[in-house]
Amino acid sequence: MTLYPREECGVFGVFNHPEAANLTYLGLYALQHRGQESAGIAVTDGEKVSSYKQLGLVSEIFDEKILNRLTGKSAVGHVRYSTAGSNNLANAQPITVDYKHGTLAAVHNGNLVNAQSLRFELEQRGAIFQSTADTEVIIHLMAHSSATDEMSVIKSALQEIKGAYSLLMLTPDALYAAKDPRGFRPLCIGRLPGDAYAMSSESCAFDIINCEYQFSVDPGEVVRFDKNGIHRERFAPVKETTLCVFEYIYYARPDSIIFEHDVYSIRKELGKQLARECPVEADLVVPVPDSSLPAAIGYAHESGIPLEMGLIRNHYVGRTFIEPKQQIRDFGAKVKYNPVAGSIKGKRAVVVDDSIVRGTTGKKIIHMLQNAGAREIHMRISCPPWKYPCYFGINTPEAEELIANQKSIEEIARHLEVDTLGYLSLKGLMDIVPNYDEGYCKACFDMKYPVSPGKDTIKRFLKKA
Ligand code: AMP
Repeated sequence: MTLYPREECGVFGVFNHPEAANLTYLGLYALQHRGQESAGIAVTDGEKVSSYKQLGLVSEIFDEKILNRLTGKSAVGHVRYSTAGSNNLANAQPITVDYKHGTLAAVHNGNLVNAQSLRFELEQRGAIFQSTADTEVIIHLMAHSSATDEMSVIKSALQEIKGAYSLLMLTPDALYAAKDPRGFRPLCIGRLPGDAYAMSSESCAFDIINCEYQFSVDPGEVVRFDKNGIHRERFAPVKETTLCVFEYIYYARPDSIIFEHDVYSIRKELGKQLARECPVEADLVVPVPDSSLPAAIGYAHESGIPLEMGLIRNHYVGRTFIEPKQQIRDFGAKVKYNPVAGSIKGKRAVVVDDSIVRGTTGKKIIHMLQNAGAREIHMRISCPPWKYPCYFGINTPEAEELIANQKSIEEIARHLEVDTLGYLSLKGLMDIVPNYDEGYCKACFDMKYPVSPGKDTIKRFLKKA
């Protein structure tokens, strides 16, 4: 059986702009944090769709020559990261096809939970798949649809899939943006000068191209952009939404608006709440750069303990390093982080991070800070213990690799060799995130999967739960 990889992705699109491919390149550059393994752009000149995709970072893949070849006024782009073993070009997006309704390029963020069973059914009906990407399943469903107009074809395919998807589809004369009925992943729309629009996983990608944020695509909605402007339609009734709470905790960029709220303020409030729930006497608050910075600022504001850069992150870290023959202890972490001895020597530090996954980064960082002379280390985490894998678009290891799935908080503290360890409570988290009534997916903390990932998947991933 084909096993579908878990993926993290970012999508970006432009409709009706003379520099569509260039703007998409810039948009993807701003969304690079959502996926660093492959990137691609498809563009249409109103007749054909051409595309380019490769493994690597956006800035490595595209140059002026390639972008100049991608001519046309509408484009979609994608950045992707996936579980090991599925990092191949066949799974890179956009996926471009010629099918009975014409040419189409699709990009997708999220994971479907019924992709494997749909794929099996489609294969029984003769479909041939070229990748393990969920997106290809959606395209095959469209090819098998008996609907006649493009919007109905898309809607009928979306009604069959389950799970998380924020999707863009480009055809020679239209661009579609759709979000699953529960709204797991963000997707927003912006306005460019003239009659042009952009669509993005996160609004931070609009800022780089002077695009004005307009609205977040509603759960269960398809938005069509064509020569007549914007047309919004529902393909599923309004249901309970389950927005991914981890987007607010870690995944989205803090300078983004997602689900209509700004990420930075929420992260800072999480830090404040953490300080109220897990106070400690200390001399300084040390963020683990960069993702925990807003929470650390919040912790420092609330506790009155000064914030200090006790760790510096090297921003030019690539994927592979040639290690010297004589092995260096904690080499991997040292390449990325270095303690600032001058600020932490002899001090009691509250080290704030946004999450602990396997516990490897934390352990190495703490070891470094201790070696640099920190007197006490109190670790504070701005989310609850992360115990269960995500099936909806955050790349997580299997349950037994999640340290909080295997160990109690006290055991984790001993493993990390910290003086104290405190996590934000689930209630504290839910009190801070906006519009709680709207509903969030927080299955990574409470195992309440809003859409069942299926028995086989659960068996594989929740052995210890
Ligand atoms: P670990 O060493 O496995 O415990 O990783 C913890 C670090 O990974 C934290 O500093 C987080 O900011 C970061 N992190 C959290 N979620 C993810 C994710 N889905 N992908 C990559 N890094 C993550």
